Amino acid sequence: MGNVVDLVAQRLQADACSIYLTDADLQHLTLRASNGLDPGAVGQVRVAFGEGLVGVAAQSAEPIGIEHAREHPAFRHFPESGEDRFASLMAAPIVLRNISIGVIAVQTEKPRSFQPSEVALLQTCARLIAPVVMNAQLLALVTSTADERAQVLDELAHSGLPMSMGEADRPARNVEVRGIPAARGVAIGPIYRLEDPLDLEQLVYRPSDDPERERSDLLEALAEARRDLHEVRDQVGERFGPEFAAVFNTHIQILEDSGFVQSVEQAVAETPNALSALRKVLAAYRKTFESIEDPYFRERGDDIQDAGLRVMANLLGVRHHNVRLSEGAIVVTDSILPNHFATLEVDKIGAIVAEHGGATSHGAIFARSLEIPLVTGAAGILTQARPGEDAIVDGASGRVYLAPDEGLRGEYARAQQRHAIEVEHLDALGSRPAETRDGRHIVLTANAGLWHDLPLVDRHGAEGVGLFRTELLALAHRGFPEENEQERLYEQVAEYLAPRPVTIRTLDLGGDKSVPIPGFAREENPQLGWRSIRMSLSNERAFRAQLRAILRASAHGNVRLLLPMICTLPELRRARELVEESKVELEKRGEAFDAKIPVGIMIEVPSAALIADALAHECDFFSVGTNDLTQYTLAVDRGNERVDHLYDSLHPGVLALIDRSVRAARRADIPLSVCGEMAGDPLAVPILVGLGVTELSAAPSAVPPIKEVVRALESGDLEDDARRALEKGTALEVKRVAAERLRHDGLLQHPDVGRWLRSIIDDLG
Ligand code: PEP
Ligand code: MG
Repeated sequence: MGNVVDLVAQRLQADACSIYLTDADLQHLTLRASNGLDPGAVGQVRVAFGEGLVGVAAQSAEPIGIEHAREHPAFRHFPESGEDRFASLMAAPIVLRNISIGVIAVQTEKPRSFQPSEVALLQTCARLIAPVVMNAQLLALVTSTADERAQVLDELAHSGLPMSMGEADRPARNVEVRGIPAARGVAIGPIYRLEDPLDLEQLVYRPSDDPERERSDLLEALAEARRDLHEVRDQVGERFGPEFAAVFNTHIQILEDSGFVQSVEQAVAETPNALSALRKVLAAYRKTFESIEDPYFRERGDDIQDAGLRVMANLLGVRHHNVRLSEGAIVVTDSILPNHFATLEVDKIGAIVAEHGGATSHGAIFARSLEIPLVTGAAGILTQARPGEDAIVDGASGRVYLAPDEGLRGEYARAQQRHAIEVEHLDALGSRPAETRDGRHIVLTANAGLWHDLPLVDRHGAEGVGLFRTELLALAHRGFPEENEQERLYEQVAEYLAPRPVTIRTLDLGGDKSVPIPGFAREENPQLGWRSIRMSLSNERAFRAQLRAILRASAHGNVRLLLPMICTLPELRRARELVEESKVELEKRGEAFDAKIPVGIMIEVPSAALIADALAHECDFFSVGTNDLTQYTLAVDRGNERVDHLYDSLHPGVLALIDRSVRAARRADIPLSVCGEMAGDPLAVPILVGLGVTELSAAPSAVPPIKEVVRALESGDLEDDARRALEKGTALEVKRVAAERLRHDGLLQHPDVGRWLRSIIDDLG
C-alpha cells in the first residue's frame, strides 16, 4: 500500500495521501499507510464511522472534496498525525460489495478546490485498490499455523469479506433482485460466486528456511492436485457420463507430464521458494503459449495455467475455486455458459443466478434441461450477493431474495414443497397419452444433451428424444471430440432409448458456444458468423468423423440425423453427400448402420422457412428451432438481456414462418416437429397445435405439464385460434388468444398446472 499512496499523491499533485482501513468491528477506521502524515501515526490514528471527514466518507460511501477542511462541521483534528499544515482534503471510500472497507484521502497544504475529474480519478483509484486491500487484510492472517491459515482463508473465500460483521452492520434482509425467469423451481441455499474473489496471485507465501522442505511441499502440492483431479474426474464421470470427465483429463495430463514435473523440480532447485518456483514455471509456459498465433493452441496455455493454479492453491492452503460446491449452492455468476455444466458439480447446484444473459441462451437451456432453477439478467446480483450467505431463488418469477428472514424462507419452503408435489403428480400420470379431447395425438419428446438427461426423459414420460444436442462433448473437450468417444456416447444413448427414437443433431458450435478449434477466431458477430453447419462443412474431417459415429449408433437403436442451421439448398446437398459418402465408407469396412436413417434439417433461420418447399423435397423431416428462428427473424440476440423484452417466439412474424414450414412439410409429406423452447411454453402449445404441429420436443420437465395442456384442448378450436393469431400485430395479442383458450378449457383450475398457468396469464396484464 506504500506504493499506492506514493503513486496517488504524485498523480493528484497532493502533499499527502493516506489509506485508512476498516477495523474488524466495521465501525472504525485506522490509518494504515501514508505519504505525508507523520509516520508514527500509522496504526495509531483511529476514527469512528461518521467521525471526521474520513469517517463521513466511509459512512456515506460517497467521495468528498473540501477546499477549507477545517471549517467543515464534520472536521476532526488529530494532532498526532501532523496534519495541521493541510488546508484541503479529498476522500473516497474503498468499497467492496457495497461495504466500505476503507478510505483513501489526499490533502494539500494550499487551499484547493477539487475538480469533478479529480474526484472521479480518486474514486477510480479506490475501486482499483479494493481487491488489494482485501488481500492485504488476508495477508495479515498469514501468521500462525498452516492449518489455521487454511481454515481462515477457506472461510474468507466463502464469506466475501475478510472480517466478521456485527449484527447491527448486516445489510438489509430480504433484499430483492429481479431478473428474467429462465428455469422454473425454487431453491434456498448458500451463495457461491463462480468468479472467486480470492486472487491467488496476490497472496503472500512465507517460505521456510529449508530448501528441502520447499521442494517436498511443492511436490506434495502437485501430487495433491493430481489426486484431487483424479477423484473429481471419476466422480463426475460416474454421475454425468464420460463427456464430463474428459475436461479433467487435460489437466491431469499436464500435471503428469514429465516435462512439466521436471521444470518444476528444476525451478525449485534453483529457487528454494516453492511458490516462486511454481510461478516461474507457469510464467515460462505462459510466455511460450502466448507467442503462438493459432488461438486453438494458445488456449491450451490456459489449461496449463489453470492446472498450475490448482497446485498453487494447495500450496497456499486454499481450495481451488471450481467443482467444490456445498450442497444446494446458489451459483452466482456473470453469465451462465454451457461449459460451466462440464466443470461444476451439477447435482449440488440448487439454483443459478446470472447478472447477464437471456432465457434462451444455451447456458439457460442446459440449466433447464438439468432442472436447475435459473434467473438470468439479474442486474446487480454480482455486487449484492455475499458468498456464503443464504438466498432464495424463484426461477418461475425471476425473483431472488438475498439474506431472507425466517418468514420469507418459510413461505418459499412451502412453495418448494408444492412444486415438488405437483411434479410428482404429473409424473405419475406419465403413461396417459398426449391426445387432445377429440383424439389428435401429439408426439411429446424431450430435448437432451447429456447422458445424465436420459433418466429424466424416462421419469417425465417423454416418447423419445426429439433433439439430442452434441455440443457438450465438444465443450468439455474444448475442441472436436474423438470419433470413438462420440460413438460410445451416441451408441449408449440410442441403446438406452430404443425402440424410442432419438434425433441426434450434428455439432452446432459457434455463436454462444465457442470452442477453440483450429481456425477459430473471435468474431464481431458470432451469431451471424462461422457457426453450426458452416463450421462443420469447412472442417470436413471432423464432420465426417461425427457422421460415422452417428451412423454406427443407428445400428443400436432408432436414430435420426439432424443438420442444424441450414440456410441454403447447396448446404443441405453437400451435407447429404457427406452422409452418403460416410455410409459407403462404413459399408466398405463392413460396419453396421441403418441404411435408411432419416436425415432432417433444422428450420431456424428465416431463409429456410421461406424456401421450405424446396428444402422439404431434399430431406426427410423438419425440426423447427424456434430459439434461433426468433433470434434471426426479430434480429434480437437471444443471449442479451438488454433486448430480452423484444425476444418473443409468439411474435406473429415468427408464427408466419412456422406456418409456412408446416404447410411445406405437409405438402411434401414429411414430419415436422418444434424443438425450440417454445415447445415447452403453455401459451405457445395451443397455437402450435392449431397451426398443425404434431410433435413437440421440450425440456424433459416441461413434458408432463404440456401433456396436461394438450389433453384439455379441442383441435378444431385451436385451428381457428391459430388463424386468428396469424392475423394479429403483436405477440401480446397472440398470447391473449392462447390465454383465453386455456381459460375456456378449464386449465386455470387444473390441480397441478393451474397455479402455474394463472401466474403466467396474470403477467400478461
Ligand atoms: C433452436 O434454435 O431452437 C434450437 C433448438 O437449437 P439451439 O437452441 O441448440 O440453438
Ligand atoms: Mg438453434
